[in-house]
Amino acid sequence: MQANIVTLPGDYIGPEIIAQAVKVLEKVAEKYGHTFRFDERRLGGASIDAFGVPLTDETLAACNAADAVLMGSVGGPKWDGVEPARRPEKGLLALRKGMQVFANLRPCTIHPQLAGACPLRPDIIAEPIDIMILRELTGDIYFGKRWRSEDRSAATDEMAYSAMEVERLARIGFEMAMKRNKKLCSVDKANVLECSRLWRETVQKLSAEYPEVEVTYMYVDNAAMQLILRPSQFDVMITGNLFGDILSDESAAIAGSLGMMPSASLGSTTRGLYEPIHGSAPDIAGRDIANPLGTILSGALLLRHSLGLEQEAKAIEAAVSAVLDEGYRTGDIWSEGMTKVGCTQMGDLVAARI
Ligand code: NAD
Repeated sequence: MQANIVTLPGDYIGPEIIAQAVKVLEKVAEKYGHTFRFDERRLGGASIDAFGVPLTDETLAACNAADAVLMGSVGGPKWDGVEPARRPEKGLLALRKGMQVFANLRPCTIHPQLAGACPLRPDIIAEPIDIMILRELTGDIYFGKRWRSEDRSAATDEMAYSAMEVERLARIGFEMAMKRNKKLCSVDKANVLECSRLWRETVQKLSAEYPEVEVTYMYVDNAAMQLILRPSQFDVMITGNLFGDILSDESAAIAGSLGMMPSASLGSTTRGLYEPIHGSAPDIAGRDIANPLGTILSGALLLRHSLGLEQEAKAIEAAVSAVLDEGYRTGDIWSEGMTKVGCTQMGDLVAARI
């Protein structure tokens, strides 16, 4: 297959980790007979320095013409003084909006080799944990009307959802559940919020189209608790922007290491935006010590969700697992007795095991 992939390394450690993910994807292409064409563009601070804005129209157009977009991370102290409307993070928000990606996927798995980094008790994580959290990304209280009283002593943020917004997110969740363990948990606060009642009704209606999927409904407060008490009960979780923001970070803490976690943002086409969940780590940039595995695993999600290359995606995940089995660790996940490696070497090791 031939595919066009736009890469957006971004700032600080961004270029270091993207280089490793590209290296691994190139190895996949070579091994499986594909042609991936990489088109590197600037985003965030790098784009502000070059063009004065965090995302140019040309870059957005290139992203929308590509099969998939792989991003590093943006922002950092160099641009802290930039006016709010042109800050690096604005480039990322504009990119998500411009690419119309409304579903954020956060897989949460515990690599058995890194179980020691999980803050949960060993008996709680004895059963395998493989959760896919789907967070709605473009609606909810973050995009509702805001109000602040003239005397600044009172404020309101409006939570808003339409059935269309819920349905298109839930559909991706059901489709994903069909390819996984056919279990879907819809998280809301339907005992209190009208938006949540709409959410639940919409999911209930859609569930008729997916009779094979076992659907459960959970209030968000209980979901936050269950993620810690018995995370193995979950397969696919779908939820709104606000609840998803909180639950997906809770799931990242369960997995233990920021540097290991990939993410994907999808819309109604197969074109997606893939990025590690961490930031630009200015404190370790330029020293070749960042963990590239979250970005490399984001590359696996890209192959799976945008290019439909499941076998190749699994090859990347297996290569990462093999490297961990052999005891190689970047500084952030290193422990006594393991072999410490840098960012480039970690990329080389994973590529060599494809
Ligand atoms: P961060 O995720 O960049 O770093 C938090 C800590 O984790 C740091 O100690 C860092 O060294 C470490 N870390 C992060 N990724 C790592 C990796 N791959 N390997 C090893 N260690 C890693 O969060 P922060 O310090 O709060 O933010 C720094 C900048 O990144 C800020 O400008 C912030 O706005 C931006 N940011 C961007 C994104 C994004 O691009 N999607 C996300 C979060 C934060």
